[in-house]
Amino acid sequence: MPLFKADLHLHTCLSPCGGFDATPAGVVARAAEVGLDLIAICDHNTVENLPAALEAAHRLGEAAPLVLPGLEVTSAEEVHLLALFGDLGDALTFQAMVYDHLQPGENNPDVFGMQIVANAEDEVEEFNPRLLIGATDLSASDLVSRIHSLGGLAVAAHLDRPAYSLVGQLGLIPPELALDAVEISPRSDPAQAGAWLAGRDLAVLTSSDAHSLDQVGAVYNKLEMARPSFVELALALAGSEGRRVAGWGRRDKDA
Ligand SMILES: [Zn+2]
Ligand SMILES: [Zn+2]
Repeated sequence: MPLFKADLHLHTCLSPCGGFDATPAGVVARAAEVGLDLIAICDHNTVENLPAALEAAHRLGEAAPLVLPGLEVTSAEEVHLLALFGDLGDALTFQAMVYDHLQPGENNPDVFGMQIVANAEDEVEEFNPRLLIGATDLSASDLVSRIHSLGGLAVAAHLDRPAYSLVGQLGLIPPELALDAVEISPRSDPAQAGAWLAGRDLAVLTSSDAHSLDQVGAVYNKLEMARPSFVELALALAGSEGRRVAGWGRRDKDA
């Protein structure tokens, strides 16, 4: 079974904290340049830069990584969860539900940063006015159920970080929470994830959480699977049919 490199937590300029250089087309091109086979774009509570990212990948052709639509959704407990989908339609359905449950109010670009919806030519289409940095009023457990009901995968983001993580906000991974994987941030060693897992047997991922182009693929997962696809990723996270998360890499340690 071949190995594929995957960075499953990338932001674009649509996230208020995202750099201007991280346009959807720029992120896809950079991912191709650093040799990633599979990426997920996960802006805060939105997928509005996915159409441009998918178009950019289409134009790059063979050289492009497979781009999965995702969101980094914020629960009522201020826990960040990655919702990964195989299909933009499902991701848009999830986004509509998230928008219905997002804190009311408008983004203040001077405080939080601009939220740029771009096209595949790196042109500004519009500025998203929502409070994307805010939390939804849905619990982590409710969000995981809703992700699964749309066929998505639910990953607890940066479990090792004190802020905005399950362990940081709740002190533990609730035993009943049906996660598909947990993510360890680049600041920690994913091989030491047991420290945060407290006995739970879950697939461990590490992704860059890149907010600028230079961070894309800084850390990545080595996924043993038949091909880069959402279905294969789901099998790898479940450790089924010979697919698995075989290990992790750091670009600065690659020869
Ligand atoms: Zn986060
Ligand atoms: Zn993030």
